[in-house]
Amino acid sequence: MIQFVDLKAQHDSLQPALSETILRVIDQSAFIQGTDVGQFEASFAAICGVKHCVSCGNGTDALYIALRALGAGPGDEVITTSHSWISTSETITQTGAQVIFSDTDSFFTIDPDSIEKKITQRTVGVVAVHLYGQPADLDRISSLCERFGLWLIEDCAQAHLATWRGRAVGTFGDAAAFSFYPGKNLGAMGDAGCVVTRRDDIARFAMLFARHGGKGNHEIEGICSRMDTLQAAILNLKLPHLANWNRRRNAAAVRYHSLLSDVPEVVLPTVRDGADHAFHLYVVRARDRDRLRAYLTARGIPTGVHYSRPLPLLAAYARLGHKPEDFPVSSAHAAQVLSLPMHPFLTTEQQCAIASAIREFYSGEV
Ligand SMILES: *Cc1c(COP(=O)(O)O)cnc(C)c1O
Repeated sequence: MIQFVDLKAQHDSLQPALSETILRVIDQSAFIQGTDVGQFEASFAAICGVKHCVSCGNGTDALYIALRALGAGPGDEVITTSHSWISTSETITQTGAQVIFSDTDSFFTIDPDSIEKKITQRTVGVVAVHLYGQPADLDRISSLCERFGLWLIEDCAQAHLATWRGRAVGTFGDAAAFSFYPGKNLGAMGDAGCVVTRRDDIARFAMLFARHGGKGNHEIEGICSRMDTLQAAILNLKLPHLANWNRRRNAAAVRYHSLLSDVPEVVLPTVRDGADHAFHLYVVRARDRDRLRAYLTARGIPTGVHYSRPLPLLAAYARLGHKPEDFPVSSAHAAQVLSLPMHPFLTTEQQCAIASAIREFYSGEV
């Protein structure tokens, strides 16, 4: 059985320690703000090489908290990518700011030229997404932000421990958001997320804001967004394996490349020069994508489409009145992208079967 993401294999590999950890948390019964939470925050900050990590309920909250910490609000414009999961843009709207979409480049990440064209007097910041695990063009994005006095938030939900010029993503912007949704490269057994930052002021605000603005004489009104002790304990157990799991994802990507590089109907993902890709997803651009996908599904090969529409063309953004021509690159990509099974426990045999089925589809095509 080929799985798109094989969480059971991951969890079986961690037994019996995983079950013991869960029983230990039940025994201690400090379900909110137990010692595992602070321990995870310290370990995750250390592994990323950043000063602060503030845990929270999920990756969407992490983005919202980071945006609020940077002061995004009514009257502001925040520029982000047209190709991502909706958390990236909906959290901008939640602050009261206006979301401004940019087109993407051949690596599926935000195009710096497109950012520059969208900057106005009202622009306050940029949210860049390291989509599929590939670092965005951080050199050019960082220098644009510097030149125009904009802050930068990195959406690292798909890119745990990916690096750019040897430095982990999440350390380049003013703040970064991570998700520990179960299927992410580092996943909890439910929802969890965090904000990381080198800035003391942002860490302090995030800590206050995510915990009701403090205790006793609450300094501000906040929200309730916390990482459960149980999730923190599970993440503490998994964190030492993350680098190795990412290596296994990269090895699987290399195998896909050698199995599929001579199939002309499929454009394989490339890694940006200077980047270390986390391969959260292995996304090809396939001719006749929807029929290929149906063919693979019928043969027991699960695939995904991330994502079928550029964000600005979703019904949720009809008010903006965008057309596909406004985002030529991401509109073309949305019609072609196909995510093949990708996880650290994928076997060579499974990948050979997937590649054979793809070849069969195109050779039988009329
Ligand atoms: C998963 C994801 C999020 C949101 O994370 P949740 O933990 O599900 O809230 C945000 N941005 C991107 C790009 C994601 O893939």
